[in-house]
Amino acid sequence: MKIGCPTEIKAQEYRVGLTPNAAREAVEHGHQVVVQSGAGTGSGFPDSDYAEAGATLLDTAEEVFAQADLIVKVKEPQAPERAMLRAGQILFTYLHLAPDPEQTRDLMASGATCIAYETVTDRQGGLPLLAPMSEVAGKLAPQMGAWTLQKANGGRGVLLGGVPGVRPAQVVVIGGGVVGTHAARVAAGMGADVTVLDRSLPRLRYLDDTFRGLFGTRYASAGANAELVAAADMVVGAVLIPGAAAPKLVTRAQLSDMKPGAAVVDVAIDQGGCFETSRATTHEDPIYEVDGIMHYCVANMPGAVARTSTIALGNATMPFLMALADKGWRQAMEDDPHLLDGLNVHAGHLTSYPVGRALEIDV
Ligand code: NAD
Repeated sequence: MKIGCPTEIKAQEYRVGLTPNAAREAVEHGHQVVVQSGAGTGSGFPDSDYAEAGATLLDTAEEVFAQADLIVKVKEPQAPERAMLRAGQILFTYLHLAPDPEQTRDLMASGATCIAYETVTDRQGGLPLLAPMSEVAGKLAPQMGAWTLQKANGGRGVLLGGVPGVRPAQVVVIGGGVVGTHAARVAAGMGADVTVLDRSLPRLRYLDDTFRGLFGTRYASAGANAELVAAADMVVGAVLIPGAAAPKLVTRAQLSDMKPGAAVVDVAIDQGGCFETSRATTHEDPIYEVDGIMHYCVANMPGAVARTSTIALGNATMPFLMALADKGWRQAMEDDPHLLDGLNVHAGHLTSYPVGRALEIDV
């Protein structure tokens, strides 16, 4: 099969869908690989790395789309990319179709087979192609929160780890899933005094069994939320209700109970955020202040560390990519129902019930 990887064209996207290592793997499996010149630059992979891996460099996205049987990307295809897709071609990337009727219509019209990273599942009921980005965002959250807390950025002027004789910062993480656990580990590693709130008792049991001594846990009742948020120097929002907008767990009124200059890092902003006062920001202009509280609400945090994110995503997508290329999409999905869960659009038809429900399109 011929695998093609174009340069990402969405604004501020520096990741790439195929690492040189994945290109090498595909070549070793007997496939041809075509990569748009410059596709890996934003992640620190020069064209020469792809050439050494056995890939052919092409000048334009048009050539990549025209030649490849399977297109591998990071972000949902933008309008000019959708116009280049054709019937029978496989598209493997993040799609997020539910809030995007225009893209959904274009993908159906293309006749291509479109597989969404974010709906591929695993045996534990997890989302293996979303998890690496949650790991990245979680580990980044205390780092960005620590920066937000600096005086020059409008913060409280508190060092996360304190120093001998000075108390460390109080960090509260709301939601102890993938993002929350990684955030809590890093904040605790930086010396902060960390508490994780979650509504799931099995999850709290797991966190307590695994991390007791490093950070504490509390059941996320409204009372516990209010008490801990009021005492916090930094609050990380990391809740997820699958398929739904994030619940608003901290109201604007509660900000006045918080310490002036405290930092809020709302990682759940891509689902609307769990603070009433959250609105999405960008890496160029990441923080703003409401009622004396500094908010960091960047919706695509992994983009800040494009190289790490690209490699992490590539590690997770590689086995699925190889299965698709080696067996063809039909056999690969017959053999693996978790990959079948990723199928969103095929030959003009929408094949995802949640997307169909959201957009009122027959599946
Ligand atoms: P996850 O499913 O692993 O964890 C979510 C946790 O929230 C679960 O443990 C759940 O029990 C808990 N929870 C649900 N409702 C709660 C409530 N009312 N109070 C307390 N806890 C509650 O999800 P995740 O992968 O950790 O993702 C968390 C959020 O981060 C999601 O909204 C995700 O989209 C977002 N995210 C954002 C970025 C970014 O760049 N901003 C990157 C990756 C993930």
